[in-house]
Amino acid sequence: MVGSDTQSSAKAPGMGTKEGAMKTTTITLTNDFHGSQIALRARNTVDGMYALSAGQVRRARSELCGMTGCTCGGDISERGWQEVHIELQPDGSAILWDRTGCMT
Ligand SMILES: [Zn+2]
Repeated sequence: MVGSDTQSSAKAPGMGTKEGAMKTTTITLTNDFHGSQIALRARNTVDGMYALSAGQVRRARSELCGMTGCTCGGDISERGWQEVHIELQPDGSAILWDRTGCMT
């Protein structure tokens, strides 16, 4: 028996917010070449891992560097030590993970 009672509740204001479903963590990325930084609300996927949308990645690039052709930084125009390890995905989004437990 398959119920269809919850299908249209996603956009109901106030009621549709499930706690824990969209946990976000503020991640600050920096660029020590331009002296810039941006705080992004990364989606907390699993413990210690975060996801940035392609839009957030583009916003970070323009905030951190913003210069076409500049090769100052990494995948998201970050430069220098970051609080997270960054892995750019083929679709332009990015996966970040805590390096607290990693050796750097
Ligand atoms: Zn730059």
